[in-house]
Amino acid sequence: MNEYDSNRILHLTKKINYYSTKNINEADCYILNTCHIREKATDKVYHEVGRVKKQFRDKKKPIVLIVGCVAQAEGEVLLKKEKYINAVVGPQSYHEINKIILNTENENIKVNSTEFEVIKKFDQLNIVKNTNSKISSFLTIQEGCDKFCKFCVVPYTRGPEYSRSSSEIILEAKQLVENGSREITLLGQNVNAYNWRNQRLSDLLYSLSEIKDLKRIRYTTSHPKDFTDDLVEAHGACKKLMPLLHLPVQSGSTKILKNMNRNHTIEEYLQIIEKLKKKNSYIKFSSDFIIAYPDETRDDFEKTVSLMKQVEFINSYSFIFSARPGTPAANFKKVDEKIAKERLVIFQRVADEIKTKYRNKLVNSTTNVLFENNTKDLDKYFGRDEYFNSVIVNSSENLAGKIRKVKINSCNHNTLFGEVILENKPKEYAA
Ligand code: SAM
Ligand code: SF4
Repeated sequence: MNEYDSNRILHLTKKINYYSTKNINEADCYILNTCHIREKATDKVYHEVGRVKKQFRDKKKPIVLIVGCVAQAEGEVLLKKEKYINAVVGPQSYHEINKIILNTENENIKVNSTEFEVIKKFDQLNIVKNTNSKISSFLTIQEGCDKFCKFCVVPYTRGPEYSRSSSEIILEAKQLVENGSREITLLGQNVNAYNWRNQRLSDLLYSLSEIKDLKRIRYTTSHPKDFTDDLVEAHGACKKLMPLLHLPVQSGSTKILKNMNRNHTIEEYLQIIEKLKKKNSYIKFSSDFIIAYPDETRDDFEKTVSLMKQVEFINSYSFIFSARPGTPAANFKKVDEKIAKERLVIFQRVADEIKTKYRNKLVNSTTNVLFENNTKDLDKYFGRDEYFNSVIVNSSENLAGKIRKVKINSCNHNTLFGEVILENKPKEYAA
């Protein structure tokens, strides 16, 4: 979401003649978009500002804006502690950025813009065209969260749940496709909580499927509690929807899920998985895990490992619980640090074994790849298969934006290497 937001901020600042530069030395304004989800986020901000300070020691000071969730969470504290910062701008106040830059150009004022004005933000963003021309683009459809999981800062930094209108979303998707995008990933903190005048995520998926040159659709991140049957149905019916679902579970223990305020049991989570598999036998899953949440016993942890083995997630993001200031879980008694680290190592080893087994099986199979660009080596093209695996092939033909059938010859932990085996576009997955 920060990548999407950063691009949209750039679209906005173009209106006042501020463009992006690859050469940091010539920047007049420095915007640091931040994430606050795990610890050390604030330290990273001070570190980064220190770096800019050093870089501009003998030059005119650039305008420095700290935007995003650290700005929202720390606000005044950042401004007071680091005088080099001109303004802090929360994620729902990006529409204020141009005004702030123009005001700061002339006077060295300090601005704290951290109101939750999400409607105004999208009103402003809708006026500026999304000129992103990447083959695979992000599109935010929903923001904020009302779920208040006890470990999470999002409801405090991104504010309450808000869904954009479906017509705005479809218009933006059409712009992206006109610019060359062939894949769109719909974004939201709880993307499947999307609800605009009773239109749900599934309705959007069908509408977006109508856009002719849009070949692939993905969405992230969904919450098990909002996984309604119409969305399950869409995974069978919507041919452009890719068969990889990121469905965070956090823990394999219902007791821990309850302590986290996740509002579902492991049985309910597994039921969703089973329903999806019935609708689409090709579907695979990835997930997020929090290891050593307060009160996690060895038995709870073993349940998380068992879940990993049972579902065989092909990708996973796992972190030790990080106490976030202001969240209820920050006051809970933490699991001993040494035990927490040991559990993370055990969990990640199991997750890695599953991933490696899956990837090794792909060698000598064929897969459909949407190519995005060539790599530093101009004859090599990078793309992704339906399961979001990175694939690299040699090709003298410009493959950007094209879907090709590829035979996989080898793999490492992050990339599959193969060769294009058909010159014509193959039948899309399940199309
Ligand atoms: N809304 C999504 C959901 O509930 O499934 C997840 C969004 S959250 C921004 C992304 C991930 O960060 C979570 O799934 C969780 O695993 C991780 N996360 C959030 N807070 C955390 C914390 N305090 N400690 C460790 N991991 C955390
Ligand atoms: Fe955070 Fe996701 Fe829970 Fe919302 S549902 S509080 S974003 S973890």
